[in-house]
Amino acid sequence: MFELSPDHVEFAHLVRDFAQAKVEPHVADWDRRAHFPTDLVAAMGDLGLFGLNAPEEFGGAGLEEGGFTYLCVAIEELGRVDQSIGITLSAGVGLGINPILTFGTQEQKERWLPELVAGRRLAGFGLTEPDAGSDAAGSTTRASLDGGQWTLNGTKAFITNSGTDITSVVTVTARTGQLRGGKPEISAILVPSDTPGFVVEPAYRKLGWHISDTHGLSFDDVVVPEENLLGQRGHGFKQFLQTLDDGRIAISALAVGCAQRMLEEATAYSTQRIAFGRPIGANQGISFQIADLAVMVESARLLTYKAAWLKDEHDAGRRSTAEVKQAAAIAKLHSSEVAMDATRIATQVFGGNGFMEEYPVARFYRDAKILEIGEGTSEVQRMLIARGLGLPA
Ligand SMILES: Cc1cc2nc3c(=O)[nH]c(=O)nc-3n(C[C@H](O)[C@H](O)[C@H](O)COP(=O)(O)OP(=O)(O)OC[C@H]3O[C@@H](n4cnc5c(N)ncnc54)[C@H](O)[C@@H]3O)c2cc1C
Repeated sequence: MFELSPDHVEFAHLVRDFAQAKVEPHVADWDRRAHFPTDLVAAMGDLGLFGLNAPEEFGGAGLEEGGFTYLCVAIEELGRVDQSIGITLSAGVGLGINPILTFGTQEQKERWLPELVAGRRLAGFGLTEPDAGSDAAGSTTRASLDGGQWTLNGTKAFITNSGTDITSVVTVTARTGQLRGGKPEISAILVPSDTPGFVVEPAYRKLGWHISDTHGLSFDDVVVPEENLLGQRGHGFKQFLQTLDDGRIAISALAVGCAQRMLEEATAYSTQRIAFGRPIGANQGISFQIADLAVMVESARLLTYKAAWLKDEHDAGRRSTAEVKQAAAIAKLHSSEVAMDATRIATQVFGGNGFMEEYPVARFYRDAKILEIGEGTSEVQRMLIARGLGLPA
C-alpha cells in the first residue's frame, strides 16, 4: 500500500505549519528581490528536513524505512507555499546530499554530510552544460588524473544551490577518458566551492524560481585530490541516472504542492468573487474547471506517492530499479504538466487579479514552467517511459 501513514500525515502538518509561519509572510518580498534566505535553510535543517534520508551518524533521522516518502511530503508542503523553497530542499537533498550518501566513501560522508544534513551548508550537482542538457552524455567538461590530483576544465549551466553563501561542494560530472568503442568515460568528482579556479558565474535572470539559487559554473584548471572521485571511475553516467530517477519523484512532489495550492486558491476565489450578481463559481464554466483541477491534483498525488513508496520499497530491497525508474518518469511527466495546467486555470479564475503579483497565483504561474524542464524535460520523460515499455525510443 502506498497510502500515507498517520506518521506521514502528522509530519505533513508539522511542515505545513512551519511553511505558513516562516515562509508565507516573507515569500512575496524574497521573490521580488530574488533573495536567497540562508537563515530559513538553517531553520529547515533544525526541523530535520535535510536529514530525512540520512543515518543518525551524520545527524539524520536514521529512519529504517520510508524516508523518501517523508522527503516528498516535506517538498509538497513547502512547495504549496513557495516553489523556490521547495526546490531548495529538493535539490539540497536529492542532488546535494544523496549522491554523497549513496556513492561516497565513509571519509567523504564524514567530511561533507554533517553540515549539509544540518542545513548549515548546501551542495549542488553539476551535470548540465551550455551545450549538453537532455543529451548529458555530450558533456565536454574534462578531468585528468596526474600525480594523485584531478585537474578539471569546463563549464556547467543552471546549477541549483551552487552559488549561495553556504554552498560547500558541487558534484561535477566530467569526461575522465574514453571507453572502448569511443564513448566517453564519465566520472563524478567532488569539487569544494573554495577551490581556486572554481568560478561561480553571475546569477541568471529567471522567469520564475526567483528565490532559488541558480548559477553557471566554470572550472579553469581546478585541482582537487584523487580521493574526491565520487563512486567508481567511469560510473558517473550510471550514478547520475540513478540520482535523477529519485530527483524526478521529488520534482513530482513539488508539482503536487503547486497544483494543490492552485486548487485551494481557485476554490476560495470563485466562491468570493461576485460577477453578474452571484459568485463566479456558480457558473459551470468555472466550477467544472475547478472540479477538473481536483481530479488533476488527486491523480498527480497518487502517482507521486506511488513512486515514492516504490523508491522506499526499492531501498528495502523489495522492488526493482526498473520499476522505480518507470514510476518516477510517469509521475514527473504527469504532475509537472498538471501543475502547469493548474496555474493556467487558477490564473484565469482570478481574472485581472491573477496577473497581479499581490496574488500568489501569479508567482506560481511563473514558477510552474520549469517543472516541465528541470531534471529531464517532458519529452525526455516520454522517451524514458517508451523505453520502459520496450520501444526502441
Ligand atoms: C532553474 C533551473 C535549475 C536547474 N538545476 C540544475 C541542476 O541543479 N543541475 C543540473 O545539472 N542541471 C540543472 N538544470 C538543467 C536542466 O536539467 C536542463 O535545462 C534540462 O535537462 C534540459 O536541458 P537543456 O536546457 O539543455 O535543453 P535541451 O536538451 O537543449 O532541449 C531543448 C528542447 O529539445 C527537446 N529535446 C531534446 N532532445 C530531444 C529528443 N531526443 N526528442 C525530443 N525532444 C528533445 C527538449 O525536451 C527540449 O524541449 C536546471 C535548469 C534550470 C532552468
